[in-house]
Amino acid sequence: MPGSYILMYGARSKEEQQKMFEAESKKVTEIVEQVKEKRELLIEKKYPLLTKIMFNKFYKEVPSFPTNDKNFILKDNCSGCGLCEKGCPVQNIKMVDARPVWQHHCEMCLGCLQYCPKQAIEYGDKSVGRERYYNPNVKRVLE
Ligand code: SF4
Ligand code: SF4
Repeated sequence: MPGSYILMYGARSKEEQQKMFEAESKKVTEIVEQVKEKRELLIEKKYPLLTKIMFNKFYKEVPSFPTNDKNFILKDNCSGCGLCEKGCPVQNIKMVDARPVWQHHCEMCLGCLQYCPKQAIEYGDKSVGRERYYNPNVKRVLE
């Protein structure tokens, strides 16, 4: 991924992201053609063992997602702009005295952390020093 899961890695360089988007676009076009032609193909699996190990670990953590928002840390440079509240897809943030307060029904999309214009949100120390990722297709929703 280009950088959406900041708890594991920061955003890739813009050049790398562009290459990924182009490769993805090419792949989607191929898949569309395969579907149109009703071709039967095996599902591609890259690194199946590694994927299985990673997803097993990941899915074990899913039940704790709603309350994992207790790990968000708000830094002093928060401007109180409210963009995090506006952008949260599940209304899990309420602004109280110009500060975001997480409501413990989080989906862990990490959008609030990634899109904060002041980079005022961290997730414990996991996101510290990591480049934020801005999905070019999502940006306009938050403006
Ligand atoms: S988006 Fe960032 S600066 Fe704005 S209110 Fe939320 S945490 Fe504060
Ligand atoms: S991680 Fe996503 S779901 Fe959770 S509070 Fe932030 S924007 Fe909302």
